[in-house]
Order: sequence, then C-alpha cells, then structure tokens
Amino acid sequence: MSGRVLIVDALSAGSGRRTSSRDSIGCGPRTVAGVFEKHGIRCTIRRVDEVLPKKSILKQFDHLVVSAMTMDQIAVQKMVKLWRQIRQIGKVLLGGPIATEPEVILKQIRPDALVVGEGEATLDELLERGFLEENIELSDIHGVGFLESDKPRMNQTRALISSKELSERFNPSTARIIDYTAYQACKVYVEILRGCSNFRRTKYPLKDGTQCTECSNCDAKDPMKRMDCPEDIPPGCGFCSVPGTWGPPRSRSADSIVNEVKELLDLGVHRVILEAPGFLDYMRGTAPLTDPCHPPANLSAIEDLLGRLNSLPQVSEGNVHIAIENMKACLFTNDVAKTLKKSMISSSPNIGLETGSEYHMRQIGKCGSPDDVIRAVKVASNHDMKPFVYLISGLPGETAETTEQSIQMMRSVSEAGAERIILYGFRALPGSAFANYPESSLKDEFGQTLRKEAEKINRQKKEQYLEKVVRGIAAEPSSTHHGFTMVYPLEEGPLMTVSGGFSAGTLLSVKVTEVLSSGLVSGEVVDK
Ligand code: SF4
Repeated sequence: MSGRVLIVDALSAGSGRRTSSRDSIGCGPRTVAGVFEKHGIRCTIRRVDEVLPKKSILKQFDHLVVSAMTMDQIAVQKMVKLWRQIRQIGKVLLGGPIATEPEVILKQIRPDALVVGEGEATLDELLERGFLEENIELSDIHGVGFLESDKPRMNQTRALISSKELSERFNPSTARIIDYTAYQACKVYVEILRGCSNFRRTKYPLKDGTQCTECSNCDAKDPMKRMDCPEDIPPGCGFCSVPGTWGPPRSRSADSIVNEVKELLDLGVHRVILEAPGFLDYMRGTAPLTDPCHPPANLSAIEDLLGRLNSLPQVSEGNVHIAIENMKACLFTNDVAKTLKKSMISSSPNIGLETGSEYHMRQIGKCGSPDDVIRAVKVASNHDMKPFVYLISGLPGETAETTEQSIQMMRSVSEAGAERIILYGFRALPGSAFANYPESSLKDEFGQTLRKEAEKINRQKKEQYLEKVVRGIAAEPSSTHHGFTMVYPLEEGPLMTVSGGFSAGTLLSVKVTEVLSSGLVSGEVVDK
C-alpha cells in the first residue's frame, strides 16, 4: 500500500506566502498529480501557505511531494522541516524549477529524492519501482538526485519527453483542481507546449569567465547546430533558464489540450490560460525548433486548437475566458492577430522587450528588436487586444544609456497601445547564463527611474477605465481593506476591489470609480 500523498504547491511562495499572482494556478502540481493518478495512488494538492499555519493537515498523509521554484527555497525548507516534525514516516520528494541547483537543494533540504528537469517520466519510474513502499536503489534512475553517504549525487539526465508522450502518456490531473481555494475565480494554466525556441546566447561573459568565441553556431541554418555551443553557454536569453532546462518546444496535441480544458470547465473553472513560454511556437516548424523567429507561426494548427476550444459550450456561452499570454514579438504579425481575432479569443499578448536598447537586447541573447516590439504592440492594439510589455531592470550590461532607451521605449509602446508595462528586477536564476550575477532590487538609480516611469504609465492607463463597466469574477476578501472583495477581470482589464462580501466564482459587473494605485482600481457592483 502506497498511502496517501500530499502534493504541496510552493510555486511563487518565496518565504511562505505568495504576494503576487495570487489568482494563478500553475500546471506543475496538477501534472505531478496526474502521474500519481495513473498509478492509482490517492493524492491531494495544497498551497504551502495553507499548510504551514495548519500543521494538523499533515496527519492525513503518508508522503510529501513539493513543487517549487528557486525563489521558494525558504518556504520549502519550512515545509519539509514541519513534515519531519509532525510525520516521522513516508518519503519526501522535491521537484520543479527548484531542482536546477541540485547540490544546494540536496544539502540544505535533504529530500529522499530530487527530480531534476522534466518530472513525469522520472516520477513514473520511481513509482513503478516502488519508491513509496520501500528503500529502492536510486543510482540507475535517470533524472534523480539524492544523498549518498551524506554527499549529493546526481544521476545521468533523463532524455526529454516527446510531443507524443506529453499528449498521450502523461495527462495532468483535472480532478485535483478542486483542491485549490477559489479555483473558480483563478487563472488556471493549461500547458500547450514545453520548452523555448530561442537558441541564441548571451555575448556577456558567464561568472566563471566563459565567453562566446563567435563560432556562429547560434546563427546556423542547421537547427541541430544551433543546439551545440562549444563553450557550453546556456541557450536563450541570459536571464532565462527555460531552453537550457526544458530544451526546444514540444507541443501537445489539440485533442489532449481540449480534453483537459473541457474537464476543467465542467468542474467550474472560468479562466484558462494556454501556457507556453511562447504561444506562437505551437506546432511551428520541424523538431528541433531552435530558431525563435523562423519559420512563421503555424496558423492552421492555432486556428484548429482555438476553434475547438471555442466550441466548448461554456466558452461559446461567454461564461469562460480563454487567454493566451507569452508571444515573441518577431512572430506576432498581422496574420497572427487576424487569426486570434477571428477565433474570438481576446488576449493580452505578453511581449518581452526586457531592454529598450537594440544593442543590449542582442548582447543578452534576446531575439527580435525594439522595432519588432513596437510593431507587434501596434498590430495587437489595431485588433483591439491589450498587450502587456515586459522589461527587466538590473540586467548585466545595463547603463545610463540603456536605461534612457528603455524609458523612451516605454513611452513609445504606451503610445502604440500597450495596456500595461510590467517591470521586473533581474533575478540570477540557476541554470541560466546570468546565474551568480548580482541581482537587482529596483532600488538603485536605474531601477528607480524605470519603476517611476512604469508606474506613471500604468496609472494613466488605469484612469482610462474610470466610469467604465468591467466584467469580473469575485475571488477572495481583500487583505488590506476590511469588508472588501478582490475581483479579477474575467476578460481583459484591471484588478479591482469592491465593497461587500462575494463568494469565490461569482460573476460581477463592476463600474470603476477610483484608481487606487498603478495596479488596482476600486469600483461598485452594478450587476451580478
Ligand atoms: S554557440 Fe556559443 S560560441 Fe558559438 S556563437 Fe553561440 S554562444 Fe558563441
């Protein structure tokens, strides 16, 4: 008997409580749950911030599995410590992007096993071999890290899962969506493809001094050649670990995506995000797809997928919102916008600019150019979409000049129709080319200049919503205003707060009355 498994979702929890993206449910924990269900093992998902203050929950379970990112290490440490205090039995298994620094994690958190890279096939093998029931030999299971005589040991990496396996062998659990509080109001991510097509690399030196020697493989016509860097520089934008960890894109079949969405909608989900590092990589080109901008997007595959999603009854009745987020500017053309518009899937395309300097963009390994971003924003806006543009402050190579160019670009994309500027401070992700570079706090001179401009633009954009009615969905009580409820926009629009208590999932029409900050408006409910 395997016993019951607690899957703890610690994604974005940082040191224990998520402060941003509170309305998002990532696909990782449901993917893990799907593998347990495949083996007939009972499991439940809980967010880490629900479990930490309610330790009695742990008594209902026999094993602990934690899914987390690098930034969540403190929350994971607290979680595992608590588990070991309360439960002296069972196995502790860790996985997710946190495993990109396996030695550190094994030494500090000491799980029974760490799943590195893609988790499904490794977890599948662990369960087949009886990992939960006994102390099995781990040394020949690819993709696993563990402590051997108290020393971290990493097995050989596991080969990437194929598109076919992602579509047919491993299905994320849909039943376990009900484990999430207020899931009816949350953005539920459904993975449509894994990996990224940007196999360019940064020209800045890595922290150990390794640097590009201009072999030209990054620009080779042969897609296999682009994967091979003689200097072992991680592929992709220097700040990102996606292509290095997850490889080139592999798409799921439309059948598997539509089935998953259908089951989620039948359970009461209202907001679905089609998750991909780049949506326009869906079924694009032939494998391995390592050129981020060529060939163009596969519009017939996209049209087919969106058409089938649109014909689900809850979507065609207008009670569910399906959205697309990340898109590469160089692929976002007029034809793409027309196809999305025709599919009636409204979208806030999330377009990464990162820096307003073309030179800086190339040096960090980014694809496309600032002009591509302005063009993509104009195209999106001309088709009534509300694009978000992303920048990063504190990147290696940032100067007064690149900061000034970024300010000018923020203004240009705002004029071109960007709905919102999203500015992040640079984080040195393990597994990325910029691992170990100093991080940004957004408090230094350049960071503050960028933050002020982004806030100014975002506030102006929010003012355009004053007196307008926005359809939203009640989520949870406001943590700062007693007696108020947080309301997420059902389609596009700002985060709102309204007076009164509404249960999660209630659809509301809200008239916006005041801009409270660059990220929040208040309003009154005009219709339920
Ligand atoms: S493959 Fe490596 S060495 Fe060759 S151009 Fe790209 S980053 Fe430079």
